[in-house]
Amino acid sequence: MAWAKALVEISCEVNLDKEIIKINFQDIAKKYIKYYWNQTIFFNLIQGSNPYKPPKILTYVKELINEYKKVSGSNLPELYEKIEIRFDSYDLKDIYNKTLRLVKDTLKIDVSWRFLNLGNDKYEIYTYNKGDDYLLIKRELLEKFRDNDQDLYDLINYKWGLILETFNNSPKINKKVKIMDEREIKRSNLNKFKKYLDLENKEHICFNCGLKIEDDDLSIDHVIPWSYMYSDDIWNLVYVHRNCNSIKSNRIPKEDMINKLKIRNNKLLERMEYYNIKDKNYYELKVAINKDYVTEFWIGSKN
Ligand SMILES: [Zn+2]
Repeated sequence: MAWAKALVEISCEVNLDKEIIKINFQDIAKKYIKYYWNQTIFFNLIQGSNPYKPPKILTYVKELINEYKKVSGSNLPELYEKIEIRFDSYDLKDIYNKTLRLVKDTLKIDVSWRFLNLGNDKYEIYTYNKGDDYLLIKRELLEKFRDNDQDLYDLINYKWGLILETFNNSPKINKKVKIMDEREIKRSNLNKFKKYLDLENKEHICFNCGLKIEDDDLSIDHVIPWSYMYSDDIWNLVYVHRNCNSIKSNRIPKEDMINKLKIRNNKLLERMEYYNIKDKNYYELKVAINKDYVTEFWIGSKN
């Protein structure tokens, strides 16, 4: 899917001034790094059926991500498009070039020839001469890609989502794949949950460290990481110190935190009933308790 998506994206960027167009592996590799970076850093999506033996390209991209996290000192996910321009200032140029070379070589050796023989059919999408650093594609075909780029993205993303669903058990896979085409991944403002959280925790005690939080230090956190859930649910939201939030960002919670969350949810439901709040969030909380979403998604997120 990355291969197909890269070709469509490149068709929109290259100059279609000749009958036969050269597409460099270098450019395809750049797209691969972008797709895998975004899917991994935000949602840690697994790209192969064997989690102990991930696809080579994903392994290279993960090394780049880890290096970025090390030098930037940040655990927060960022879109590749935003970080790419900062590689120089982070001193990541060398490792980036190394990643690019490794991805390019893998594409040349392992990937490029596969799409010419799918099943029993032979597809003449492009010509590839072994050893070359580029593919040759007819302009006519690239024009078709370009003219139908949005439909093709939709189709590719949909197929990609279906494939990922077979070995990722996290919720909202299709949404997670699709959102990668946006320029920004916005997290919605969680302040609308304060009025509920205050019912059970009006002293603003930090869920993480148990100390009181001053107003200017108050933040709302997803106990089961947002990167896994990709949604904001009252049963999964708690008050924490800003600092406590950034330290544990995207980490899977320990069992004691999970038990604590279950107790909190029961108390919160009780408080909502006491104040006769019977809105959407009340019913969502009630369903979450009855179906024990906390355990279900916690176990899922650990896999
Ligand atoms: Zn704290």
